[in-house]
Amino acid sequence: MATGHIFPRRRYDQVSFIFMLIGIPFGIGFEVIVVLPVYHSSMTSPIVGLHVALTLFITANVAANMYWVITTDASGRSLGLPSVLKSGWKYCHECQLNSPPRSYHCAHCGECVLRRDHHCVFTGCCVGFRNHRYYLVAVMYLWIGAIYGVTYSWSYIWQEVGGATVANVLSLVAPHIAVVVGHLDLYTFTLMSLQAMACVLVFLTTYLFFYQVALVRSGQTAYERRHGVTMYEGTSAADNVRQLLGERWYLTWVWPSVRSRLPGDGMQFRTKPLIDELEDWKNL
Ligand SMILES: [Zn+2]
Ligand SMILES: [Zn+2]
Repeated sequence: MATGHIFPRRRYDQVSFIFMLIGIPFGIGFEVIVVLPVYHSSMTSPIVGLHVALTLFITANVAANMYWVITTDASGRSLGLPSVLKSGWKYCHECQLNSPPRSYHCAHCGECVLRRDHHCVFTGCCVGFRNHRYYLVAVMYLWIGAIYGVTYSWSYIWQEVGGATVANVLSLVAPHIAVVVGHLDLYTFTLMSLQAMACVLVFLTTYLFFYQVALVRSGQTAYERRHGVTMYEGTSAADNVRQLLGERWYLTWVWPSVRSRLPGDGMQFRTKPLIDELEDWKNL
């Protein structure tokens, strides 16, 4: 089920991908090489080991889940789509294939993606039925990692720039202006720029994570939420979580290779009227 490529094809995605590929290791290197030794007089202390282990676990999970997002084929090409148009299906003129319900064509990927959520610019591929789990976990760890990094280096940075004065707070918002007017030197400018980018990452990942949590809870894709489609909602929030993260949803945070079988094949989905009908039938 591999996609056969890792590096994004679209220029905009390539820039985002490279920015992330350089930015994340740079931020982690800063925390471990510069900040960590300042806070701990002995580098052999168990607390240092705990910070390093936590950093490694978060980073490895972000990288591995993003790798799974990219290398998992989100399209329906391998499924042998039917030549006869079934009820609820639509014909995709670009793919020249019959496309199942909840599947949409992505102009950037050049294919129809099963239960398509959105096109991710940081991985350069679509998020859908088969790889949504990895995307969600990657976003969760990016969010945790960003908050962890910002809070960990916060007091070190204020200490280096001379305290949380009004001028210093303003220079966090616009470090490029602060260095031009001579308020920051090259080192403190670098510190402030890093912290400013980390704060942006915190806001961005907070939004992405909670938006995804809302989608999971309601059993909708981003497209369905925008267009008010509610017919695929499950019987409960827990059922919606299982639909997206699989049967062993509670273990998906551990590592992407942990198996969690998804219900269905990505082509047929239970619809709300049918679920309601089943519930009525059970209550008879
Ligand atoms: Zn298509
Ligand atoms: Zn796409």
